[in-house]
Amino acid sequence: MPANLESLIAAPEIVVALDLDGTLVPFAPTPQEAVVDGEPAELLAALSALPGVTVAVVTGRPHELVADLPPRFPNVLFAAEHGVWRYAGTGWAAALQPVATLTEIETSLRHLAERHPGARVERKSASVCIHWRMVDPSVHDAVAAAAEVIVDEWLETHPGLERLPVIEALEIRHRLAHKGTAISWLRKMTPANAPMLAIGDDVTDEDMFTSLRDKDVGVLVCDKPRRTQAQLRVGSPIGVYQLLRWLIDARKNHHAEAAPPSIADPITARQLAATTGGRLLVASNRLPSAPTGNRTREVGGLVSALVPALTEHGGLWLGWSGAERDPGLRLRVEDVEPFARAQFDYPVGWREKFYVGFCNQSLWPLLHAFPGRARYDDTEWVTYGEANIAYARLALQAGGTNSTVWVQDFHLLLLGRELRKLGHTGKLGFYLHVPWPPLDVIETLPWAPEIMRALNEFDSIGLQCTRWRDNFMHAAQELLGTDAVAKFGPKVHVIPVGTDPDRFAEDASATTESSELGNFSQMLGGRQLILGVDRLDYSKGVPERLEAYARFLEKYPAWRGKVVLVQVSVPTRSEVPEYAELRSRVELLVGRINGQYGEADWVPVRYLYRSYDHATLARLYRAASVALVTPLRDGMNLVAKEYVASQDAANPGVLVLSRFCGAAERLPTAVLTNPYYLDGVAADLDTALRMPLADRVAAHAAQRASVWADTAGAWATNFLGSLAE
Ligand code: UDP
Repeated sequence: MPANLESLIAAPEIVVALDLDGTLVPFAPTPQEAVVDGEPAELLAALSALPGVTVAVVTGRPHELVADLPPRFPNVLFAAEHGVWRYAGTGWAAALQPVATLTEIETSLRHLAERHPGARVERKSASVCIHWRMVDPSVHDAVAAAAEVIVDEWLETHPGLERLPVIEALEIRHRLAHKGTAISWLRKMTPANAPMLAIGDDVTDEDMFTSLRDKDVGVLVCDKPRRTQAQLRVGSPIGVYQLLRWLIDARKNHHAEAAPPSIADPITARQLAATTGGRLLVASNRLPSAPTGNRTREVGGLVSALVPALTEHGGLWLGWSGAERDPGLRLRVEDVEPFARAQFDYPVGWREKFYVGFCNQSLWPLLHAFPGRARYDDTEWVTYGEANIAYARLALQAGGTNSTVWVQDFHLLLLGRELRKLGHTGKLGFYLHVPWPPLDVIETLPWAPEIMRALNEFDSIGLQCTRWRDNFMHAAQELLGTDAVAKFGPKVHVIPVGTDPDRFAEDASATTESSELGNFSQMLGGRQLILGVDRLDYSKGVPERLEAYARFLEKYPAWRGKVVLVQVSVPTRSEVPEYAELRSRVELLVGRINGQYGEADWVPVRYLYRSYDHATLARLYRAASVALVTPLRDGMNLVAKEYVASQDAANPGVLVLSRFCGAAERLPTAVLTNPYYLDGVAADLDTALRMPLADRVAAHAAQRASVWADTAGAWATNFLGSLAE
């Protein structure tokens, strides 16, 4: 018998936490039909009547749907809505204030549901869920995609909430509205050393299992092995009844007369590690959301580039779930196509110090050569080090000591060193998606030499373009000396990130109407489209672009009324104060330009603070005569490449591209511009709009060759090749 089960019999006090639907009662079409009667009712009453046993029902249902239970089972505690509502003998009480802002997202989701018969939106006090199980299966993907876009965009500005993929549904909930909080609540009400038995069948029950301690017992109810945090598994509610019956008898007799009912092993994260040893493990700060069906919506070049690569090579992706929870750092592994995902929560405080602090307010501005925006704080640096150590431990747990680990980006600069310290023997690669700044700038970081030394533990280092590589090698020379350069030299490679050009080309030529774009061509009214698409980040130079466009309208008045600038700005990093300021600045500028130059029948700038999926973006790219891609500095810039891929080769648009991004090196036939020089950008825009067809075709042909050579797939193959050497 497992030792933990023995302690459930011997301990003077124990706690039993039971999920309801699928665990204590079999599933029924509606919760109202799944009633607690017969055997489960008897067991619940008998178990809760035993001395030293605290029993709790922990359900996802709203408390109104379990209101009949407390009077029937007076010795039992109840947690409804994943622990938000609690009943401990004296009536229901909410542990969280109702989340009023959820009404915004509820309204948007209801609009979506109205357009798709069968879709249903369910609102609880701390969560909203859209279900599409009853929608025509041929449009499931489309509804899921639309819901994801709406939800992700909204979550960018609501950091206290998180999204939860549920089968054929999407749930948005308060970060503390999970069953782990119910476990903490139960612990507070019972003796500290009382062992706990938690039983559940759903993904949401993993939150209970994650909150258990080593001596507790988690039991998954599932008829086949599944990756879980529970240690044991029974096949169905019948197995639960057998287990509870056995426990009741054993506690009454103070020892087990019979062996426990047969309990299977679920697959645990630890077992997974044994099977993935030697495989590829990608480690990035944030784990991307699981792609569903054939579509992925990826905002952020890292994800855009890695999804095709992982699909091709197979592998496990390790990253942060996006949630904070104490104690955090418990690995949860899920097998979903096209790659397995290993995720964990940050301990409370890391979001602020590690992610928002050191990563986004020190390293991001520094590496993009905005030292004036960077600030350096000792405690944030310490947390950065701790986070890198924790990632190293988790990477070993998930992939074993001989996996090939491919580390992504500036959040994990120290990970190679930490993995080696822990005895990792497999290959270690590092790819920097952002620029590496000149020596004068990197020197402002007090810990630059330490970071350079840690980077030297990697076997291969990839950068986007020769300019960043030259900056990097110069810094190595000056900060660490000639020996370091000799070591770095052979392993620092220029391997540009790419896109999936075939997909953009295909989506761009689709002839069906796009529901996302509505009457877009009517809006254009035959005018030429100038397009900007970026995350709303100061490195993208959006205010400078708008100023340059205003200068263009001023200096080249013949274009007034003949062009429209559509600027898509994707919400990002709303927790960092500068980003909120940037948004206000951009909105003011848009208002100013439209006020100054607009006519009753012409709006010079259309500003869209939202994101689109790739298929819709491809159509926008195809419709644009000019793409205005003018970052002040950018590691690569995938939008530039996606624009090229989406053009009609016989009549392509013109790419106006900043000189200060990695893409400029690969696309020299673009109209290269200096985003800091407004008159220059205005003149370049005029040139682009006037460019004769033959010149456009020739420039585009060269760009096409580059974009189809540097695909995401080629990038992954080349980097992994460099690592294998
Ligand atoms: N993107 C998107 N939807 C949008 C706007 C952008 O999916 O509405 C994607 C875009 O297709 C590109 C990525 O976001 O793949 C942006 O990558 P880029 O390298 O240009 O910039 P990053 O955001 O990584 O700094």
